[in-house]
Amino acid sequence: MLRENLASVERKIAEACERAGRSRDEVTLIAVSKTKPVEMLEEVYLAGARDFGENKPQEIRDKYPQLPGDIRWHMIGHLQRNKIKYIIDKVCMIHSVDSVRLAQAIDEAAEKAGIVMPVLVEVNVAGEESKAGIRPEDAEQFVRMISVFPHIRVEGLMTIAPFTDNPEENRPYFRKLNKLCVDIRQKNIDNVSMCELSMGMTGDYEVAIEEGTTMVRVGTGIFGERIYSAH
Ligand SMILES: *Cc1c(COP(=O)(O)O)cnc(C)c1O
Repeated sequence: MLRENLASVERKIAEACERAGRSRDEVTLIAVSKTKPVEMLEEVYLAGARDFGENKPQEIRDKYPQLPGDIRWHMIGHLQRNKIKYIIDKVCMIHSVDSVRLAQAIDEAAEKAGIVMPVLVEVNVAGEESKAGIRPEDAEQFVRMISVFPHIRVEGLMTIAPFTDNPEENRPYFRKLNKLCVDIRQKNIDNVSMCELSMGMTGDYEVAIEEGTTMVRVGTGIFGERIYSAH
């Protein structure tokens, strides 16, 4: 079942790339495996997925040793500074940097680990009250502020678009984030590459691809609905 889900998502990605005149290898599919057991991740791994996304540091810490070493783990959720230690030597990218204090703490942990951590700046592109992220109008200044940390490298922008039944409603937000990324890239800020856009989820990844995303984060479309136990 998961194999078929993955194949179906892969096909839709290929078709969206085709429509947009883009090459398939410009888009990375991140299989968002939060709340799912390692057996399901193994199945998706065996079907060919290598990039996995999680939103809880503890979940990466626990799953990491149980799965193959060539998986690229992406930290996509809100990150508290005291949890950085669980993931600093395990993830290939942190998608959710939204404060200078967090950027500084990642920088310090990366220095200790002897690495440079690629990061994305989370932007609240639709200005939703309930969502984390930097305001679009503050993004350039924010990128400049965190670009001084030598053990992180700012590689682009990430957003969680509004939840909607109609993906077309998110097209203007994806277009806006892409433009913001291009605008900041053109400033040629030291230590900032701005080539990556992490936008598009199960409901809207095809539109995001048409609007230039380089990473889509697909959970439900691959693993099925998530069941959160009530505590
Ligand atoms: C859960 C989650 C996703 C995946 O959501 P789906 O709608 O299940 O595809 C993507 N990005 C982030 C940050 C998430 O927390």
